[in-house]
Amino acid sequence: MNTATPLKYLAGYPEDLLAQVRQLIDQGKLGDVIARRYPEPHEVRTDKALYDYVTELKERHLRKADPLSKVAYDSKLKVIQHALGTHTAISRVQGGKLKAKREIRVASLFREAPAPFLNMIVVHELAHLKEREHDKAFYQLCTYMLPDYHQVEFDLRLYLTALDLPSG
Ligand SMILES: [Zn+2]
Repeated sequence: MNTATPLKYLAGYPEDLLAQVRQLIDQGKLGDVIARRYPEPHEVRTDKALYDYVTELKERHLRKADPLSKVAYDSKLKVIQHALGTHTAISRVQGGKLKAKREIRVASLFREAPAPFLNMIVVHELAHLKEREHDKAFYQLCTYMLPDYHQVEFDLRLYLTALDLPSG
């Protein structure tokens, strides 16, 4: 893999870091590195389990935020778009009602992902209950709920990169 090869999940990261990632890919080691760093699976397999998981985190960190009307895994979600790129609204005002209906949808890929990645993505979506944009206040809230948020997000991007590799 040469330096021109784009790493779509890692756009914006420093070039020296990307060079290390390409080297791991060339050596066929990226998947193993992630698997060794994140061996821990989770048991949050159903929408009900996900609802309980999200609610527990919300109660712990964001008790005052609006209640959640729905929490579900969604197989149609584009991970890059929803979780890691431009935020697509998870809250909707329905029927012109004053209070927004709050929904959290998690790409179904996270059902199989290591536990810290599910934690990170739920923290991300919970932070959007209070902060719309991906700005400083948003990331402060994320790191309040998950102190190593930025490391886990980077590693999640590596994980997604590894999943996309032809060899698997
Ligand atoms: Zn977002």
